[in-house]
Amino acid sequence: MNDPLIDAESLVKKRKKYELTETGFNEVPRKYRKFYRRWRGTGDQLADNEVLCPVCLVVIRSARELRPGDRVYCMPCMSRLTVVEKNGMLIATVVY
Ligand SMILES: [Zn+2]
Repeated sequence: MNDPLIDAESLVKKRKKYELTETGFNEVPRKYRKFYRRWRGTGDQLADNEVLCPVCLVVIRSARELRPGDRVYCMPCMSRLTVVEKNGMLIATVVY
C-alpha cells in the first residue's frame, strides 16, 4: 500500500480503519488520488483520518486514524509533515 502515513509504530497501536474512495482530486497519479482531497474552506470538517497540509491546503487522508506525532507525506507539494493537536483539531506541521 502507498498510504501516506509513514510511522511504522502505528501498526502496533489499534486504530480505526477507513475505506478511502476518490474525491475528484487529480493532482497526483491515479493510484494515490484517494489519499488526498481539496480543503473546502471554512466549515469543512476533518475526519479522524484526515489532516490539512499547511503548505498547499490539501487534505491528506490515511486509511487509518491519525494521531499526534504521526508523520505523513503530502505528495502534491512533496512536504514531510508531523501531525500535532491544536484546539482539538489535528493539524500538520512541516518537518525540516
Ligand atoms: Zn501539501
